[in-house]
Amino acid sequence: MSDYRIETKCVQSGYTPGNGEPRQIPIIQSTTFKYATGEDMGKLFDLEASGYFYSRLQNPTCDMVAAKICDMEGGSAAMLTSSGQAANFYAVFNIASCGDHVVASSSIYGGTYNLFAVTMKKMGVDFTFVAPDCTPEELDAAFRPNTRAVFGETIANPALIVLDIEKFAKAAHAHGVPLIVDNTFATPVNCRPFEWGADIVTHSTTKYMDGHGSAVGGCVVDSGRFNWMAHADKFPGLCTPDESYHGITYAERFGQGGAYITKATAQLMRDFGSTPSPQSAFLLNLGLESLHVRMARHCENAQAVAEFLEKHEKVAWVNYAGLPSSPFHALAQKYMPNGTCGVVSFGIRSGREGASRFMASLKLAAIETHVADARTCCLHPASTTHRQMSDQELAAAGVPGDLVRLSCGLESAADLIADIAQALDKA
Ligand SMILES: *Cc1c(COP(=O)(O)O)cnc(C)c1O
Repeated sequence: MSDYRIETKCVQSGYTPGNGEPRQIPIIQSTTFKYATGEDMGKLFDLEASGYFYSRLQNPTCDMVAAKICDMEGGSAAMLTSSGQAANFYAVFNIASCGDHVVASSSIYGGTYNLFAVTMKKMGVDFTFVAPDCTPEELDAAFRPNTRAVFGETIANPALIVLDIEKFAKAAHAHGVPLIVDNTFATPVNCRPFEWGADIVTHSTTKYMDGHGSAVGGCVVDSGRFNWMAHADKFPGLCTPDESYHGITYAERFGQGGAYITKATAQLMRDFGSTPSPQSAFLLNLGLESLHVRMARHCENAQAVAEFLEKHEKVAWVNYAGLPSSPFHALAQKYMPNGTCGVVSFGIRSGREGASRFMASLKLAAIETHVADARTCCLHPASTTHRQMSDQELAAAGVPGDLVRLSCGLESAADLIADIAQALDKA
């Protein structure tokens, strides 16, 4: 980890060209890498030497961008994945398999909820979902002897609930397991969960990090601070020999800072292959270079929009942690003093139908399932991303039927407010 401030890391980390080398990161668009002897390559397969042999596992361009995100989060090792879904799957499955259990916040992205509650359940991993505002006692009660991790989102998509990272980290550590935090909405510009006790961070880089709606991607970052060997009985995959990799014990060979990501690369990337293309990693890096500048503007626009909405008679409620009226204001001030994100949610007084009329009347804000890019966009989760959830589950996830999610882009705040005002007139 470098000592530079986050702004400098956004621009400079991950790649330092040598004399006469390209200034911008090179796109190494190659599936394979050439070696002089079979013995040279054998060392790579044995994980005895570091180097590249096949881009399904690792690629230099992707690794340069992973190294930048690693530095931005203050981690010890990181890997890019082909999507945020793959990142969250890898982050959990790397330490929890059939017969294991995970405690997760109930307020998480709909795709992650489905991954956990449906798909990973079919794989034999059990999840207990807890309300993010649960008491420490309620959180404690969710653990079982076979619990292997705790999972939450810094700012939940789309409920915008701010996670009390310290509370979740304390509970996880009391039970000898790591806390995994999906930091997609805050980005390391606004929050670095490792500074508050999280052990592993994930990202859908598809959102603010890319920031232009151009490439789907994800990232997993390890803090290097979780002592796997101290809880070796819970993490045999890291602390006992891997017969599929010549009997390597990851926590011994790669240490506390390298074991987790090396195992995820050597086993999960090898077997599942959710690897991004070097071209996509290059695009992601372009987004990262301006992330600190863009996040400030996203937050400024969202604050102005939220303040406007709060005063409007056709708006029943506004949820934005930047508003002093928000129940998450205090947590946001603690964990994200410089701003949270550009996403605001609110309820239209005329309900579900009114929300549809509002959405149809917007001119600048496009209806998209996407969030967090340069162009303002808007979504009604109950009829789209969260439609598989029952009313009860919707309520538990903090996504009522009248909720409109507005992702404020980088346009003029005055133009955005004018567009919202004319659409509210028709709601
Ligand atoms: C979008 C999103 C994901 C899933 O990421 P993809 O890149 O779409 O696969 C996971 N977590 C959060 C918080 C998200 O917003």
